[in-house]
Amino acid sequence: MKDKKALLQEWIDSHDRIVFFGGAGVSTESGIPDFRSVDGLYHQQYAYPPEVILSHSFYLSEPEVFFDFYRNKMLILDAQPNAAHRKLAELEAAGKLTAVVTQNIDGLHQAAGSKTVYELHGSVHRNTCRKCGKKYDAQYMAATKGVPRCEACGGSIKPDVVLYEEGLDQATVDGAVRAISEADMMIVGGTSLVVYPAAGLLRYFRGDKLVLINKGATGMDSSADLLISEPIGEVLGQIHV
Ligand code: ZN
Repeated sequence: MKDKKALLQEWIDSHDRIVFFGGAGVSTESGIPDFRSVDGLYHQQYAYPPEVILSHSFYLSEPEVFFDFYRNKMLILDAQPNAAHRKLAELEAAGKLTAVVTQNIDGLHQAAGSKTVYELHGSVHRNTCRKCGKKYDAQYMAATKGVPRCEACGGSIKPDVVLYEEGLDQATVDGAVRAISEADMMIVGGTSLVVYPAAGLLRYFRGDKLVLINKGATGMDSSADLLISEPIGEVLGQIHV
């Protein structure tokens, strides 16, 4: 039987419209916690679970608590891209990979050099004054106290991050669907595929190889052409472009 990583290398070599779909596991190797995992933020000391704090209604009713949590747990600005981010950027530059679709909001794919990135849940690097529309970067948000205020008009600044109870950006979803439906190979990594809208988006894939790389079981293990139960950075790090 052929080694799984040799098979992955062979398939990457023979495809040129690869789309990568990634979840929190892609960034945990960069030191960014997955708040849905048992090792993640659920077991840390906060008065409310993350899913409550990171909801639209909580953001409106308790903005000070929201931004305290947001700055402490979501804004991890010293994180660096890992081997997975770097290899995906190399594959795109080499004309092998057409897009990255991610559930992460940390911007590490772009930091590694990826150009076409569909950020389903937004990005901590885009922040907008709700009153005048002025844009702010993540460093500005990190340096604020309490509710971040616009230096131009005093309005409150909201991160372009999709909170619970909020819908996804339609243009981003459309772009992701288009990339996935035109892909000849799909690599899914660092996600258990149980989080909306991951499993739904994968239904648009009509290519011939679906590869799942995740340390734990996923909701689509039975559909995969290849299943590798190892950390995504270690697996992709060994791929030759
Ligand atoms: Zn403003």
